[in-house]
Amino acid sequence: MAKKQEQLTVNPVFPRPGDSDDFSKYKLPADPMLPEAAYQIVHDEAMLDGNARLNLATFVSTTMDDQASKLYAETFDKNMIDKDEYPATAEIEDRCWKIVADLWHAPNPEKTIGTSAIGSSEACMLGGLALKRRWQQARRAEGKSTEKPNIIMSSAVQVVWEKFANYWDVEPRYVPISLEHKTLDGHDLEKYVDENTIGLVAILGVTYTGMYEPVKEIAAALDKIEKKTGFNVPIHVDAASGGFIAPFLQPELEWDFRIKRVHSINTSGHKYGLVYPGLGWVVWRKREYLPDDLIFKVSYLGGEMPTLAINFSRPGAQVLLQYYAFMRLGFEGYREVQARCRDVAQYLAKEIGKMGPFKLWNDGSDIPVFAWYLKKNASPNWDLHDLSSLLRQKGWQVPSYPMPDDMAELTVQRVVVRSGLSFDLADKLLEDMRSSVDYLNSLEGPLPKEGREVGTFAH
Ligand SMILES: *Cc1c(COP(=O)(O)O)cnc(C)c1O
Repeated sequence: MAKKQEQLTVNPVFPRPGDSDDFSKYKLPADPMLPEAAYQIVHDEAMLDGNARLNLATFVSTTMDDQASKLYAETFDKNMIDKDEYPATAEIEDRCWKIVADLWHAPNPEKTIGTSAIGSSEACMLGGLALKRRWQQARRAEGKSTEKPNIIMSSAVQVVWEKFANYWDVEPRYVPISLEHKTLDGHDLEKYVDENTIGLVAILGVTYTGMYEPVKEIAAALDKIEKKTGFNVPIHVDAASGGFIAPFLQPELEWDFRIKRVHSINTSGHKYGLVYPGLGWVVWRKREYLPDDLIFKVSYLGGEMPTLAINFSRPGAQVLLQYYAFMRLGFEGYREVQARCRDVAQYLAKEIGKMGPFKLWNDGSDIPVFAWYLKKNASPNWDLHDLSSLLRQKGWQVPSYPMPDDMAELTVQRVVVRSGLSFDLADKLLEDMRSSVDYLNSLEGPLPKEGREVGTFAH
């Protein structure tokens, strides 16, 4: 034993037992190993992941500055639910959602309510649940059935809304998108609304393409429907990405609480909120839009604190990082970061649009995200999946995927520009795209379809 210990401490890292030995991958190892050896194993396995900075598929932050990393290291042990133990973190959480509510023009900060969440997915669930519960209460008060709730959304919603409908037994009513109606824009809504409609989801920054849905026009269409039928359909805006873009880049655009019909809005702190994963926010315009019976009380400084969440324990450090980002950047800092992303996105879109085979779906002027597809007959021997595969070999993740159901025959490729994709890197990407397209065009026959890069779509 003594000999073994000595071997362990004297040996250089790689030849140590534990590193060089076969260790069990799917069973808890029988014995401990040195922390250095365990670290090296995990570190080396994680090294085989893609390079996050070159991942143009994800919306989620991959860079923060050094002070944020320091703060993270100091606070990663904080549990957000322990409001009693961490009252300062709880107070900062409150400040953060109030800052967000103010960015979204909540009419009366005293009457607004909000919370953090683990991401937009949890925040959307909470927004959807509030819609459902309010509808149920109203129906019960009128002695009517609550059997068949439905919710209206675009066929291009993020998967969380399909989950919401599935998990909470709400019928999803999808409004299909098309080349004519590239987003849910208010057309034909009367076909979808009835007395069982709990609400409509409008997306600020459609995940598939980055386009904004015109919340104001949708609200106007619902106003008309209400006049005619009496059905009063509230809107939840899923602003997972746009919630931190529109206030800075399109301040004139009315999509938020300036529109009365908008009851609640969510966003991802870990997307354009510029914080590491996982953090989301949800805010209700008025206290009464969040039914009381969805709120639980936890002990807080000897008193009680209302909480609304699906998770119990979750990291508190991200909330502190959000506050750090707010302090560090201020309004002007956020505006500059987001404007740079938009400039890079529009530059990339313009250059990609100039490459022969592609047609742009949009140009990155809403959120800094855009998509394109192949022109008809542009490439007899290859498609966008082949291009994704070649780019992946060069380190870039640029996903290609089919559009939602009614347009599933159309495949698009998408770039999400995040803070950290500089003009310099963008030029490198263009270079790699051009050489990949040249190579693909030089092929005499089609590439084999096996082993291609498919399904990396981070939706
Ligand atoms: C990313 C996204 C979500 C899910 O958000 P997470 O923060 O990843 O949980 C929901 N809706 C839209 C529109 C999104 O872009």
